[in-house]
Amino acid sequence: MKTCIYNNSIALGKAAGKAAAQLIRNAISSKGSANIILATGTSQFETLKELVSAKGIEWNKVVMFHLDEYISLPVTHPASFRKYLQERFLSHVPTLKNAWLINGETNVEKECERLGNVIQEHPIDVALIGIGENGHLAFNDPPADFETEEPYIVVELNEACKNQQMGEGWFQSVDEVPQKAISMSIKQILKSKHIICSVPGARKARAVKNTLEKEISNLYPSTILHAHNNCTLYIDEDAAATLNHETKEKITLYQQQLKIYNARIITPHKIIENGSILVTGEKITAVSERNIEAKGAIEIDAKGKYVSPGFIDIHVHGGGGHDFMDGNETAFLKIAELHARYGTTSMLPTTLTSSKEELLRTLAIYERANKKNTNGAQFLGMHLEGPYISMNQRGAQDARYIRNPVADEYHEIVSSTSCIKRWSSAPELKGSMELGRFLKSKNILPAIAHTDAIYEEVQEAFGNGYTLITHLYSAMTGVTRRNAYRYAGVIESAYLIDEMDVEIIADGVHLPPPLLKLVYKIKGPDRIALITDSMRAAGMPEGESILGSLHNGLKVIVENGVAKLPDRSSFAGSVATANRLLKTMVEMAGVPITDAVKMLTATPARILNISDIKGELTVGKDADIVIFDDDFTIQKTIIQGKILLYGQVATGPY
Ligand SMILES: [Zn+2]
Repeated sequence: MKTCIYNNSIALGKAAGKAAAQLIRNAISSKGSANIILATGTSQFETLKELVSAKGIEWNKVVMFHLDEYISLPVTHPASFRKYLQERFLSHVPTLKNAWLINGETNVEKECERLGNVIQEHPIDVALIGIGENGHLAFNDPPADFETEEPYIVVELNEACKNQQMGEGWFQSVDEVPQKAISMSIKQILKSKHIICSVPGARKARAVKNTLEKEISNLYPSTILHAHNNCTLYIDEDAAATLNHETKEKITLYQQQLKIYNARIITPHKIIENGSILVTGEKITAVSERNIEAKGAIEIDAKGKYVSPGFIDIHVHGGGGHDFMDGNETAFLKIAELHARYGTTSMLPTTLTSSKEELLRTLAIYERANKKNTNGAQFLGMHLEGPYISMNQRGAQDARYIRNPVADEYHEIVSSTSCIKRWSSAPELKGSMELGRFLKSKNILPAIAHTDAIYEEVQEAFGNGYTLITHLYSAMTGVTRRNAYRYAGVIESAYLIDEMDVEIIADGVHLPPPLLKLVYKIKGPDRIALITDSMRAAGMPEGESILGSLHNGLKVIVENGVAKLPDRSSFAGSVATANRLLKTMVEMAGVPITDAVKMLTATPARILNISDIKGELTVGKDADIVIFDDDFTIQKTIIQGKILLYGQVATGPY
């Protein structure tokens, strides 16, 4: 069980509600619907308030179940949980696919059976629950029945439980509280894939202490939450007040606050001079044009420098002397650390064209490295570049492994992992449309790369899910001529198809300033992602390096900020870091800084479909923040609330 402590019940509710909203959106995007359980009571006020205001939830795809209800209490009574859900939830959201409320005024055995049958058909994605003053979950008072397989049961309420209900003001006297209730059973609650448990307030301090400090026992029903794999306990300072010191030390996600003030904050539309940002735990909890009062927060004086969302690099191969294909976890971790120093807070590690075995090995290494990546830019998933690309447009990709898409092969690769987020291939190859549709169905972004396609092929590809063009201008067709006839190529297609996203290597070398200006002029900041596409020599002194594999890669020379073949006939990879992309766009291409930042933050976040958590400095988003000066030199990188200093997580305070 993870535990998060917040300053107050409002901050707690915001965090819990946002987490719930994200899980609901995730469930809908992966399987088309979401099944949820909602609790009632004072503890859920702020969490539900946040949840109903969450954006982007298709509520007509949500099925709601109700945790518990009194027996024989009229729906009109102020304490009725049906009334509560109606007033605090159902009336604030569009009509759900279904809302299975518990009717306590009917034949209760039949009601338990009716709802039990339905919930068994609906595996629960997320349960929002609380913990009672006596430690109960739903109305399972101690000693709770941990064994029953029945989804809904009839229970007797004990005195402590009744006192709580009166204490919270739902009833005038204890005698008025019903004797019995219908409750979801413990086993049914634990079947939920995710559990979000909100427990604010001093009245719950004892229950929270027992939950966190007692062994699992039915005398303290909430201790059973330790047995669940995906449960997060949200508490506030008041509820955490009596925890002993060791418990607080053990809580991994103690919500330390961080305040950045005296900041030139870059938002998508403007710059806020002298603003301040408050971070609580991993999230941004306030952005203000004035100073924010935050007692006990770690304070960072930005000294009037730029404060921007963290940079998102959706195409990167290496840095610091390492390549993601080096075959070890250290390479992943070192590359992430290197780029974090230059302002990248999240990235898509990218592979090169290679054998199936090597790709599978790299994906497996990703999974292991991802769990250890605490000092570097966050990994957002893998980007596979090749091997299904055009031989003619291979650039520096290894010709031995270039092939057409093979369904058996890509099915095997995709099913070996859940980490693939993007796949770059040439759409004119046989089988590419099927590949595009398959990737789309797996929530993987198909991208157009290393390609000889003409406009008609790009248009068809767009209709089959290929909505992004990989490093525009590099390794692709412009206008070509076959006999007397001219054909528009991928570059023209990028301009003609308004909704097509493009990424550009904005190191100032791969594309000269006039081309950077042209792409910006036509596509605009909402359709362009700036990428480094950098190889292992990024962040290293200039001189000799190797492109690709350490064993049989290509010897290259790094000079004047780019890698070249030894005979200098061609570029052989970028050595850019993210801050250099920004500097290039502003100083060489004359782009306003707000737009340049957008192309490194909000736009790549939108392309990866993670705008709800990343890409802007707004309340509720991940606290991925970069501070840099007028020369685009990075002063500080903050990733999900953690301050990185020289590649190290600082333990603070500063
Ligand atoms: Zn690349």
